[in-house]
Amino acid sequence: METVLVTGGAGYIGSHTVKVLLEKGYKVVVLDDLSTGHRNAVCTEHFYLGDIADQELVSKIVNDHQITSVIHFAAKSLVGESMKSPDLYFINNVGKSVQFFSTLVSCGVKHIVFSSTAAVYGIPETIPIPEGTLPNPINPYGESKLMVEKTLRWMEEAYDVKWCALRYFNAAGADLNGDLGEDHFPETHLIPLVLKTALGQRDEIQIYGTDYETPDGTCIRDYIHVLDLAEAHIRVLEGLKNGLKSGAYNVGTGHGYSVREVIQLAQKIVGKEIKVREAARREGDPAVLVAKVDKIQEQVGWKPRYSDLETIISTAWKWHSKL
Ligand code: UDP
Repeated sequence: METVLVTGGAGYIGSHTVKVLLEKGYKVVVLDDLSTGHRNAVCTEHFYLGDIADQELVSKIVNDHQITSVIHFAAKSLVGESMKSPDLYFINNVGKSVQFFSTLVSCGVKHIVFSSTAAVYGIPETIPIPEGTLPNPINPYGESKLMVEKTLRWMEEAYDVKWCALRYFNAAGADLNGDLGEDHFPETHLIPLVLKTALGQRDEIQIYGTDYETPDGTCIRDYIHVLDLAEAHIRVLEGLKNGLKSGAYNVGTGHGYSVREVIQLAQKIVGKEIKVREAARREGDPAVLVAKVDKIQEQVGWKPRYSDLETIISTAWKWHSKL
């Protein structure tokens, strides 16, 4: 089996992907600066603490482990932070990724899977959102991911490197046995915040906006289980080796749930009432974000297996209760 280099393998989606790669028999090397990730979430023995823009380190890793495929997660990913410090996002997510790809290509790496986001779409006109929608990000985070996608496109032209950018919708859930899960600081995402409220670590969950043009007035999102996301990375990586066309792929379920629906089901799963407060809209939140997912399903046969809301919330609950 070949060796795959995973950057950001100590982070939420990266750590789950490393675990699934190992279960499938791949050898996995992780490069992470641990700025937001957790060392104990790294399941492989081959761990390098360092920066993706460190040419010497990256060349050494690629050469020592004969790497030909890379999954690149390492990035900053907080929309609010990106609004306050856009330069930080462009330096970290764009500048460092470009340097990283340049080193990879000079070392002969041929396949790159990149962790992108539905935030590249901005406020979409069509729901579900097809990949062909003209991207129009409304925050530096989404813009930074789009810039990296464009970089990959031009690097393919010049160096024939094959790539896929996976545009995730709302990653959620935890490993089935509760060993790995979502542990961000600060936490901003709905499902972990709802569960932390249930555990008494927060007083209440605020609903950001109840006057959206949706059936119950709250935002609708397409939640995708982190294990399904992990599988999607591996499918496209294997696809690239078998002639899959480079490009961007949505990863979602094609079905959305409202904030109220998430809270209601969470209350049922945890078996207690969760204190809710209706609050103002959060800046930059589109009313509905739901993926059109035919492309990845048709091209590599990927289908979500764990992304029903019940499994997402109960696996996350198991993890949070343990944590
Ligand atoms: N949300 C909320 N209260 C919170 C956190 C999030 O009402 O404390 C809403 C948010 O406005 C959005 C949805 O939950 O409509 C999902 O937000 P999250 O931050 O989890 O993911 P995003 O969609 O921003 O990537």
